[in-house]
Amino acid sequence: MPDATDEDITNLEKGIFEAGAISKMLDENLSLLDIAKKITGDKNIKIIEDCKIPTYKCDCSKEKMENALVSIGKKELENIIQEDGKAELICHFCNKKYNFNKEELENLLKKIK
Ligand SMILES: [Zn+2]
Repeated sequence: MPDATDEDITNLEKGIFEAGAISKMLDENLSLLDIAKKITGDKNIKIIEDCKIPTYKCDCSKEKMENALVSIGKKELENIIQEDGKAELICHFCNKKYNFNKEELENLLKKIK
């Protein structure tokens, strides 16, 4: 709050006192916006910046891994089935492992035809 006056700060402190402990509000699953409203008493308050911590979520799935296996081509897939009888794919982004057994690989092979 760069341009908050002393008065604003006093009001804010009063607001925090009246609103109770923030941690208690968090326990009640109030959103950050609700808490801000309680503290400031300003119902029109808006949080301009999204304060949510950005969490990286990989959107990989077994289906995508299947597509990757299909895309390597029939011959490669046949080689994997013959040599290993299974395949383990690891997502480059989240390191999640996807295992394919022989049956699954053979099903994929049918898709390529
Ligand atoms: Zn992933």
